[in-house]
Amino acid sequence: MKPYLVLAYYHYTRIDQPEIFTADHLAYCKKLGVRGRIYIAPEGINGTLSGSREQCEEYMAHLRADSRFEGISFKIDEHDDHAFNRIHVRTKTEIVHSGLRDPGIIDPTKETGRHLSGKEFLKLKDQEDVVILDVRSNYETRLGKFKNAITLDIENFREFPQKIAELEQYKDKKIVTVCTGGIKCEKASALLIKEGFKDVSQLHNGIVGYGKETGGKDFDGVLYVFDGRVTVPVNHVNPSVISLCKNCGEHAPRNLNCANVDCNEQFVMCEKCSEEMEGACSEACKTAPGKRVYNGTGYYTRPVLS
Ligand SMILES: [Zn+2]
Ligand SMILES: [Zn+2]
Repeated sequence: MKPYLVLAYYHYTRIDQPEIFTADHLAYCKKLGVRGRIYIAPEGINGTLSGSREQCEEYMAHLRADSRFEGISFKIDEHDDHAFNRIHVRTKTEIVHSGLRDPGIIDPTKETGRHLSGKEFLKLKDQEDVVILDVRSNYETRLGKFKNAITLDIENFREFPQKIAELEQYKDKKIVTVCTGGIKCEKASALLIKEGFKDVSQLHNGIVGYGKETGGKDFDGVLYVFDGRVTVPVNHVNPSVISLCKNCGEHAPRNLNCANVDCNEQFVMCEKCSEEMEGACSEACKTAPGKRVYNGTGYYTRPVLS
């Protein structure tokens, strides 16, 4: 049993005066001693945080005691240490940035895709009329994705609405959207329904939840996560590695940010090449003035990409 926990959670709910809630919540988190990144918006809360088991239990009880967060579910991982260096609690216009913040366009609390448990998804996913649509970004899906999933060449979820036109051919299929923890699917599936897709469901609690519930069968590669762990394994049934080292071309389940802060590009590189390249994506970045000291992980505290 590891001493720390990493919690990932979101909840779509109405939060009036989100700035005030943000300030209160930040004060609470600091006092408690948890670290992580929490976004608060009029439409709800989205967070990942780490802390000791006691701190995390206390945090979950605190949120559950608030009627606005009734039914919130936490995805829990064990960890050796904190997964974050600091605590950030910020007010945002949306808890996941889609550019669709007008609840008149979509409102996941009112209409969204049917929620499938991990077990239901496992049963359904290989049926002939089912299309698995991965709504995550390209740097995530290149590290790991479901066999046969449709992926999108987007760098940010904000680009998702523009990609819907390319999905026209699946309008009469059974679409199941998937993402890391489920938060993007709430909006993606809502938008697909709005655009006339007939049968839309979503993997509730995302790929993370699926892995925990079923063992992760048929998820190829590893799962990109937005904290110091960078990637986590999902599949304990028939695992494989799909991503290739940028330098040597060998299979490598590792994602790094370029050590050159002015580049910061995300790329896949094996451990051996990363040491040789000192965490840089290219020879030019290796000698650039903004080159950071390679810390062995390729993860540097930075503003989150979401
Ligand atoms: Zn390599
Ligand atoms: Zn670079």
